[in-house]
Amino acid sequence: MENSDTMKLYNLKDHNEQVNFAQAVRQGLGKQQGLFFPADLPAFDSSEIDELLAMDFVSRSARILSAYIGEEIAATDVAKRVANAFQFPAPVVPVEKDIGTLELFHGPTLAFKDFGGRIMAQMLTQVAGDTPVTILTATSGDTGAAVAHAFYGLKNVRVVILYPNGKISPLQEKLFCTLGGNIHTVAIDGDFDACQALVKQAFDDEELKVALGLNSANSINISRLLAQICYYFEAVAQLTPAQREQLVISVPSGNFGDLTAGLLAKSMGLPIKRFIAATNANDTVPRYLDEGKWLPNKTVATLSNAMDVSQPNNWPRIEELYRRKEWSLKSLGHGAVSDETTRETMREMAKLGYTSEPHGAIAYRLLRDELQEGEYGLFLGTAHPAKFKESVEEILGTTLALPQALAERADLPLLSHNLPDGFAPLRAFLMALPK
Ligand SMILES: *Cc1c(COP(=O)(O)O)cnc(C)c1O
Repeated sequence: MENSDTMKLYNLKDHNEQVNFAQAVRQGLGKQQGLFFPADLPAFDSSEIDELLAMDFVSRSARILSAYIGEEIAATDVAKRVANAFQFPAPVVPVEKDIGTLELFHGPTLAFKDFGGRIMAQMLTQVAGDTPVTILTATSGDTGAAVAHAFYGLKNVRVVILYPNGKISPLQEKLFCTLGGNIHTVAIDGDFDACQALVKQAFDDEELKVALGLNSANSINISRLLAQICYYFEAVAQLTPAQREQLVISVPSGNFGDLTAGLLAKSMGLPIKRFIAATNANDTVPRYLDEGKWLPNKTVATLSNAMDVSQPNNWPRIEELYRRKEWSLKSLGHGAVSDETTRETMREMAKLGYTSEPHGAIAYRLLRDELQEGEYGLFLGTAHPAKFKESVEEILGTTLALPQALAERADLPLLSHNLPDGFAPLRAFLMALPK
């Protein structure tokens, strides 16, 4: 396959807006909040796929990223960046005879978002060169931790994370407010919406934006998707030839980034027979696939709270990929699982000897219901059960040990600053940060 000079991406809301990889990584979104989508969809033939599957995770992942990025970033730099980011495994673990799980929770914050977050951090610093960058973001818990760990210790980048004082779990707070160094955490006397409003005000302040080199590192950044493609290849690499023949992958979905990445992996030539889009009661997509109408309901709170999304922001990328590849959305498996069924399923999985958590259990449930004779099924294990300790313990009637990464942090002192809810104090704090 030939590499083009620079990667080209277009805005899904205005195809005339075209950017290269560096711009897409820096900007996150295009005009009118449009998502960027790759103009070229690289693909490998089956002998190249076999060659890739025989490689180790890091080398193979570097090849996959370079297939998209082209010569815009030297392959040796991409390889270094991937090696920095992917320092933990993504093992396939058998659950029953014809079903396994791809465990994506062995990173520092125990969820699959570590893969995308760490590649995004590496790529942002790569394209920023010597220009200092300040990442400013608000969190209600999980994303802040992934961002903090992803950027921790990187040169020329400071991270400021706002969170609502007293409104996140003590363990969550320990996970990202004990790092120090280039990670600055600020407990705001307000709720999550107040934190988000402060971030928005900061981005509207041109002088501040320029002085600090503000960037949002947001969740729809294209670099995250490229990172996530890599672990679908890693999954297939661990399967036997027979299991690879008729592979079905079930993806627990909220914003549909993970599923988008899986479909991109398939479009590159990875042998995946079909996908199942698994949601909780926030079922906009399953209803859309059944009825052809896009009718988001009000978001409801569920056990699988990382999937409590009724307007999934990556969906336009999936539609675009199906259009470009001339695939039919009829081929996309789908379903929604209630909290009651999720609980039941977690108990059934425990009987099989596998401790799951609500997000993975939803994907397993639909996979088991829809898997046909002769097929092999994989579901994504998106979070470590200890991350949802309270509900897992209550549902399974057991106690879970904290993984070492979390246990170690639990005894460290909090390094957060505290600020009242107001823009002036935050602005003064930001301007006074060490360079
Ligand atoms: C974010 C998240 C999801 C949903 O992933 P999307 O890419 O947003 O669809 C599923 N499970 C867990 C544990 C998550 O943190």
